[in-house]
Amino acid sequence: MRRTALLLAAGLTAATMFTPAVAQAATCNGYVGLTFDDGPSDAHTPALLNALRQNGLRATMFNEGQYAAAYPAQVRAEAAAGMWIGNHSYTHPHLTQESQAQMDSELSRTQQAIAAAGGGTPKLFRPPYGETNATLRTVEAKYGLTQIIWDVDSQDWNGASVDAIVQANARLTNGQIILMHEWPANTLAAIPRIAQGLAARGLCAGRISPQTGRAVAP
Ligand SMILES: [Zn+2]
Repeated sequence: MRRTALLLAAGLTAATMFTPAVAQAATCNGYVGLTFDDGPSDAHTPALLNALRQNGLRATMFNEGQYAAAYPAQVRAEAAAGMWIGNHSYTHPHLTQESQAQMDSELSRTQQAIAAAGGGTPKLFRPPYGETNATLRTVEAKYGLTQIIWDVDSQDWNGASVDAIVQANARLTNGQIILMHEWPANTLAAIPRIAQGLAARGLCAGRISPQTGRAVAP
C-alpha cells in the first residue's frame, strides 16, 4: 500500500511538473523532435526554457560538455523543465578530423559532465556540424549513444529570420527532427509561432527515441 501510494505520488508530481502552461492540441496526430544545440548557458537557457514551457513544448537539448561543466544548474533546469538532454561533444570540434582517442575523450567527458550536473546519462549524440564517420560511430556505440542528425535545418545558426525559422518548423512531418540552437535571438522569438503552427497541424513535440532515432510520444 505504502509503496503504491508513493509511486502514485511520484507520478502525480512528475505529471504536474511537466504540465504545460498552455494546453496542447487535444489530439496528437504525430510527433516532431525539436532540438536546441550548443548550450547550456546562463545567458540563453533560462529564457529558452521559459518560452518552451509557456508554449507547452518539450525539446531535446544537445549540450556541450564544457558548458554542462560550467553551468550545471542550467543542466538541472533543463531536466526540471521536462527537456531531454543529449551529448553534443565537449568542445564542439570537427570530430572527423580527430583521432579515435580524441573522439573518445570528447564523448566520454561530456557524458560525465552532464551526469555530474544532474542531467542523467545521455543516450543521444549529435555530432558537431553533423559531421560523422565510421570511427566516430564506433565511439558512439561504445557509450551507448544513438547518433541524431536532423531532417530539417532551421538555418538559425546562419542568420535565418523569425519567419524562416517558423517556416522551417512548418515543414516537419511525423517523426522528423529539426536543428535549432539555444543562442539565436530569432529562435527564441519564433517559439510561440512554432507552437501555434504545430498545434494547428495536430503535431506535438515529442522525445527522440534512442531505438529508432525518430520523434515519438514523450
Ligand atoms: Zn553545435
